[in-house]
Amino acid sequence: MSSLPNNERMNLLGLTRSALEAYVVELGSRPFRARQLMHWLYKRGEGRIEQMTDLAKDFRALLTERAEVRLPEIIAVQHSSDGTRKWKLRADAAQAFEMVFIPEDDRGTLCISSQVGCALDCSFCATAQQGFNRNLTIGEIVGQVWLANRELAAGEAPVRLGALASAERPVSNVVLMGMGEPLANFRNVVPALRILLDDFGFDLSRRRVTLSTSGLVPQIYHLAEEINVALAVSLHAPDDELRNELVPINRKHPIRELLEACWHYIDEQNGRSVTFEYVMLDGVNDSPAQARRLAGLLAGHPAKINLIPFNPFPGTRYRRSPAAVIQRFRDELLSRGLVATVRRTRGEDIDAACGQLAGKVLDRTLRRLGSKIISVAVQP
Ligand code: SAH
Repeated sequence: MSSLPNNERMNLLGLTRSALEAYVVELGSRPFRARQLMHWLYKRGEGRIEQMTDLAKDFRALLTERAEVRLPEIIAVQHSSDGTRKWKLRADAAQAFEMVFIPEDDRGTLCISSQVGCALDCSFCATAQQGFNRNLTIGEIVGQVWLANRELAAGEAPVRLGALASAERPVSNVVLMGMGEPLANFRNVVPALRILLDDFGFDLSRRRVTLSTSGLVPQIYHLAEEINVALAVSLHAPDDELRNELVPINRKHPIRELLEACWHYIDEQNGRSVTFEYVMLDGVNDSPAQARRLAGLLAGHPAKINLIPFNPFPGTRYRRSPAAVIQRFRDELLSRGLVATVRRTRGEDIDAACGQLAGKVLDRTLRRLGSKIISVAVQP
């Protein structure tokens, strides 16, 4: 709006319903036009304002002059033989961010990024190695979902460029498990989530949108006041000493405080359970005694555990726990009454695994990453 530089158009994908209502009123139109616009944008996947034919001609002309549907630019796309796809999207001349689509029989999950790089420095994550570059805007976060729907539908029927019927939208689930710490970009992530959930937006059920956090405790309380989505928390260790090493934010917000915040979120938002992610690192956090300790922390609480086989990347000092060790760890949890799943690994022909997303445009064209494993986020 008035805060935009003169030459920059308003990105319609960056506006929640209430912001869009305010914007159309500012343009001299009526608030209900916002819902019409959202119908075109999200229900029909139309990105060309001039094609939004039930908007008055004058209003369309004004909108075309002032606003646009601005999408992240696709730098590269990689297709796995099992249908998984990864897109590299431009953040600026030297930096990129990534999104990954994981098709399954009963759903299509899009894993999106919230930041370019990450400041949290978890010791087992490739994204951490590049440091933090910047927050993604609301339009860039929402734009990933919009773009994936369009790209995937275009693959099915190349003639369609614009309108999508809702049944044709391939993305049924969204996980904020790509690059970045979503709660460190709270200001943009929360409005983006509103657009994902809005009946007039992507209209996704709150159980099909999962925010994963490394454990920013004050922001979890803040989130509980703002929005109801599925919460996943990167726990990765059953005690503070080890977690301090793996997830350094733990030094500021130790496990006890983190778990309290999680239970508060579930109470406040009437949620079912928190999913605790636990990366399986050979000889580091994968012993039966550690499984028992983990069970002790979570038993009796609304918790599920998702064990993630570690995905290696060049220069890492960690190795993936052997499959039998992961099974044993899971069995310890199950025998103590916990719900625990192992994140499925599939596809071996593109670099798209949890913790492997790295956005250096130049680097990526010059070197190949060692591992080629894809992990599938299994969320209801
Ligand atoms: N910053 C958020 C979002 C990232 S989500 C968070 O920490 O939750 C990605 C998930 O993959 C997190 O649970 C993260 O800890 C995990 N992960 C990171 N690096 C990994 C690796 N190399 N192998 C397997 N999982 C990894």
